[in-house]
Amino acid sequence: MAGSENGTGTGVADGTGTGVADGGGQAGKDGGNRAGGGPLEWLALARGTLDRASDRRTDDAFLDAAWNDPRSRVLVVRDGQVNAVLGADPALVLLPTGEAPPGDRYFLGVDADAAGGGDGTAYFAVAAPLPSVEGAEPVGLRRVGALLPDRDSGLMTHAVSLEHWHATHGHCPRCGGETEIRQAGHVRHCPNDGSDHFPRLDPAVIMLVTDQDDRLLLARGPQWPADRRSVLAGFVEPGESLEQAVAREVREEVGLTVRDVRYLGSQPWPLPQSLMVGFSAVADGSEPLVPDPVEIRDAAWFTRDELTEAMASGRIVAPGPLSIAAQLIMRWYGGPLPKMPPF
Ligand SMILES: [Zn+2]
Repeated sequence: MAGSENGTGTGVADGTGTGVADGGGQAGKDGGNRAGGGPLEWLALARGTLDRASDRRTDDAFLDAAWNDPRSRVLVVRDGQVNAVLGADPALVLLPTGEAPPGDRYFLGVDADAAGGGDGTAYFAVAAPLPSVEGAEPVGLRRVGALLPDRDSGLMTHAVSLEHWHATHGHCPRCGGETEIRQAGHVRHCPNDGSDHFPRLDPAVIMLVTDQDDRLLLARGPQWPADRRSVLAGFVEPGESLEQAVAREVREEVGLTVRDVRYLGSQPWPLPQSLMVGFSAVADGSEPLVPDPVEIRDAAWFTRDELTEAMASGRIVAPGPLSIAAQLIMRWYGGPLPKMPPF
């Protein structure tokens, strides 16, 4: 079945969405993950630092006071885009609330931690056309999600996720009536039948499949450029566990049976509404690969030396560091990949 980070319904995970870049991009700020037995350590879209303060979403007095606090900041979001300043230190454009355009407000949280740290700043998103800001430009998560600092990456991921959900769930799935925003942007309510509706996610599994010789399985989706390869991925189906989804997807896409399915990490992937859940699994590399003719253009095993050579020569392009796919591959590889796309 379908599903992956590229959002086109193919069975392999796209890392970058567009284009081919050389230029030796970095695997995020710290060079990505290292090989080993632990979980993934750095995931571009799983770095949020705010206390979401979900108990405040129904506290109108708090929300009003926070909105009127001159320290509070607003991220304007429209169609998955926000204003950001790029350059050496990319950052979101965060406006004082008095400068925010009119639009639906989402409370994103406060800069605070359980130990009493943080400066207490409250953050909101407003869904509205992006204002023109000197020195800034509209950008999406694919462009800046891996480049922003932790707080900003989390703010943008949260805001983009909510904005897409509100934009596409304006009607009640029970009665078809128009729904209203509630709980500071985290619920939609149907006044006709009283039902509440919560932001939806489409969980997808993504698998680092290796064999008994520690070779890595990479595949190419049918719509991809000839040099693009990634790990297998697919949507979780109703009534199945994540581990069952891993086994089913690998069986469907390349005809292999996996064992030792282990969780490695997850990150939101609001492009538009997935949660990517990463696993490792082991398959028998002596068994024939039988690619699904619809979802997989080709699939092959790689040693580290073979992958190094293929990437260095430009024959194969890896996913960019935004994706969990890239972090999974780097975990196996043992560090940043040669010639990674910059984002
Ligand atoms: Zn309804």
